Amino acid sequence: MANVKFYSGENIPLEMHKVRIVQKLQLVPIERRLAAVTEAGNNTFLLKNSDIFLDMLTDSGVNAMSDRQLASMMEADDSYAGSATFTKLESKLQEIMGTKYFLPAHQGRACENILAEVFVTPGSIIPMNYHFTTAKSHIVRHGGIIEEILIDEGLNPVSDHPFKGNVDIDKLKALIARYGTDKIPFIRLESGTNLIGGQPFSLENMREVHKVCREAGIMIMLDASLLADNLYFIKTREEKYKNTSIREIMRTICGLADIIYFSARKLGCARGGGICTNSEALYLKIREFVPLYEGFLTYGGMSVREMEAITVGLEETMDEDMVSQGPIFIEYMVEEFKKRKIPVVTPAGGLGCHLNAMEFVEHIPQKEYRAGGLASAVYLTGGVRGMERGTLSEQRDEEGNEIYSNMELLRLALPRRVFTMSQLKYAVDRVEWLYENRKMVGGLKYVDEPKVLRFFFGRLAPVSDWQEKLVAKFRADFGDSL
Ligand SMILES: *Cc1c(COP(=O)(O)O)cnc(C)c1O
Repeated sequence: MANVKFYSGENIPLEMHKVRIVQKLQLVPIERRLAAVTEAGNNTFLLKNSDIFLDMLTDSGVNAMSDRQLASMMEADDSYAGSATFTKLESKLQEIMGTKYFLPAHQGRACENILAEVFVTPGSIIPMNYHFTTAKSHIVRHGGIIEEILIDEGLNPVSDHPFKGNVDIDKLKALIARYGTDKIPFIRLESGTNLIGGQPFSLENMREVHKVCREAGIMIMLDASLLADNLYFIKTREEKYKNTSIREIMRTICGLADIIYFSARKLGCARGGGICTNSEALYLKIREFVPLYEGFLTYGGMSVREMEAITVGLEETMDEDMVSQGPIFIEYMVEEFKKRKIPVVTPAGGLGCHLNAMEFVEHIPQKEYRAGGLASAVYLTGGVRGMERGTLSEQRDEEGNEIYSNMELLRLALPRRVFTMSQLKYAVDRVEWLYENRKMVGGLKYVDEPKVLRFFFGRLAPVSDWQEKLVAKFRADFGDSL
């Protein structure tokens, strides 16, 4: 984004790219949206793209690619072993992260699968600023126990703390004192902390974590999937680094981690992932699992075309105009919601704008999935697909009891460089209407509930006929508008 002041005084984010390939969108009538959401079991993961107007489910694998990324895909070198494309990607990672070894994998969770298999044993304690769904599932599957040591402010939805993803250093020290270092194979640090609203950690905080972990002899594993946003926030929110380049911040962060893994569906704006380290011993420990689960060491389940695109995408991520686009659009949307007194997570983070369903639909009992009900209602209202990030995305405990999430969020993700300002304004407008009519939104109940990662394919039904009533109100207010 460009730092351009408007004569009118308005604060309008100005894109530093132009659109050269477009995809036609459809906005189906609300009656069709009701049928679609019913067919999808009120689970936005199960909606079909043809029924969706603005797909704000995720930023994963749906960021817009640049002309250079597309061009690079034409020169991919396809071979099972020893492809030149792999060498290019490996060199780019060596250059920007400063790590010597790169182990490719088909996406972020594939890295988590391998890393959990190598480093987690039954009873392992894994401290982390906050969990991520797939990271948690892999660790727990190997008998690991997750200990969240996020600063308390991280879970406060309305805050002005610039780094809500920070680790609480006292909690980290207390944890080490309680369990001893032998039980803690690594600490997992998540950049752009996903489930609390794409909130960053500061570089200062990472340095402190590094100091404690070095003294204790505990490895730092960085989940760099959302690092692009985190880099931008360090540059703009951490006084000390305002004159430091994105490239330098990147090198510094990576230099403080022992293992870095990432989803290239986010970092690098393509599709793929991988694990980077400077340690030969760690590299050798991990290596054998790549051909076993992913593919040979020079592609790891990725297509060579995507690997070319990642190489270019990573380089583009070092450009401040590029990494600022997501956060600035998100901030715009958050500010628009704030003006309308609509409960939204603050400060604005990366990845997307997060409506606070805990408050938005506070009349819905938490056991009826507040954020799930809101996700279904937002889709109905505007054809806008968000993602529930709350209790519905959690897993029951061993006795089958519901684990209530600390936060009930509806994420409206803004994949990078994809949407236009008028589309953001439309989404804000529809959410505003829904907020006026929020008392009409009801809860959901599971009718088909899988045991693992239930949010992906579980099916739910509304607890009453609230959806039909909402459709009728929409028609009364909007006439025959779409
Ligand atoms: C998306 C994501 C992952 C998983 O990556 P996939 O490529 O979707 O498997 C892991 N960690 C974080 C923080 C993520 O946002």
